[in-house]
Amino acid sequence: MTDPRRRVPRSDTLLADPRLAEAERTLGRALVKTVIAEAQQKARSGEIAPDRVADVAVAALPSSASSLRPVINATGVVVHTNLGRAPLSTAAIDAVVTASGATDVEFDLQTGRRARRGRGAMAALARAVPTAGGVHVVNNNAAALLLTAMTLAPGKEMIVSRGELIEIGDGFRLPALMESTGSRIREVGTTNRTHLRDYADAIGPDTGFVLKVHPSNYAMTGFTSSVPVAELATLDAPLVVDIGSGLLTPHPLLPDEPDATTVLGDGADLVTASGDKLLGGPQAGLLFGGAELIERLRRHPAARALRVDKMTLAALEATLTGPPPPVAEALRVDVESLRIRAARLAARLPDADAVDCIAAVGGGGAPGVALPSAAVSLPEAYAAPLRMGTPAVVGRLENGRCLLDLRTVAEADDDTLAHAVLACT
Ligand SMILES: *Cc1c(COP(=O)(O)O)cnc(C)c1O
Repeated sequence: MTDPRRRVPRSDTLLADPRLAEAERTLGRALVKTVIAEAQQKARSGEIAPDRVADVAVAALPSSASSLRPVINATGVVVHTNLGRAPLSTAAIDAVVTASGATDVEFDLQTGRRARRGRGAMAALARAVPTAGGVHVVNNNAAALLLTAMTLAPGKEMIVSRGELIEIGDGFRLPALMESTGSRIREVGTTNRTHLRDYADAIGPDTGFVLKVHPSNYAMTGFTSSVPVAELATLDAPLVVDIGSGLLTPHPLLPDEPDATTVLGDGADLVTASGDKLLGGPQAGLLFGGAELIERLRRHPAARALRVDKMTLAALEATLTGPPPPVAEALRVDVESLRIRAARLAARLPDADAVDCIAAVGGGGAPGVALPSAAVSLPEAYAAPLRMGTPAVVGRLENGRCLLDLRTVAEADDDTLAHAVLACT
């Protein structure tokens, strides 16, 4: 009797299989060898026949060298942090692809000399917020706040209202983040009410700056009071405002969301924001302020550790100068057109109804805003196979149904969505 292990094809024989050789070229040798080893193991344990090892390995090959998979966001949450926040516009994706090779990010092709890094993205940001004397970009809004604390309040105090000491998600708290620089938080006011005199009383020789944080992921109602930016700007201390969501100008549908232009106009010295929330761009931290202050931030030794890469700069510039990104479209699209799409899809699919529903802005933005929307409603049992499909589809479970909310699905993806549902039946 021959040992079945003797008949399991050897790795070099398998790597010579044209399909696996091609995969080695696109995915890399290590990844293909891992897949081959798993298939060989299955043959050794008797799970598959030895002559099936090559086929099983080919079937198990991933479609790309990254484990990240494309997802259709049918949750109805426009900026979904667990799904990577803002999807990039086609213009931004093209820019990223171009920038991913060697590119003139820090080089002047005309003179052949070094040039200011990311000057195109900086110029686009400056044009988008003309009242800012200077702009700077770091890794994310958390990094923008770190750099601010390190530059304006080394060993000093940052004065913040108790009502604005927020947790931004995954257990990260803004106060702890900023105190990790060695600066101290000086809390003023109470949870529900803070007045101008609370800030004024706290200002002294130890003050680095006053910080106002937009409590973007929750809303306080009832007996509440906070001090508007214009009043805080009269205090005798630099004023930093974290607007969170990254609107650069007022948005008609989101009247309670602060924007960089208005906040600067109201007298803030520095504004910080995220790039991948309502702006609809790549993960980034945006800083707007006076030219001199921005230069101090840029020149801080730690700025180098917080800088963004060329692909972020490329995506940011294209988001600002190109057509509206998917986030803007998802906010703007009218509910009537969503209802028509839902009805059309439901008619093509078994077990499906078209229903009205409510979508949300998400991503720590506009917690009180309900966006009227329409969805394809399926039995809950569809949720798991949809998530495991290609592309993966993530819907929202509501009252025992799996809703595919179309506000967060591009119309161009409707066909793909229908096929993904049909693949589950
Ligand atoms: C989202 C948010 C942050 C964190 O921003 P990141 O870009 O994720 O670092 C900070 N402050 C506020 C008010 C936010 O809404």
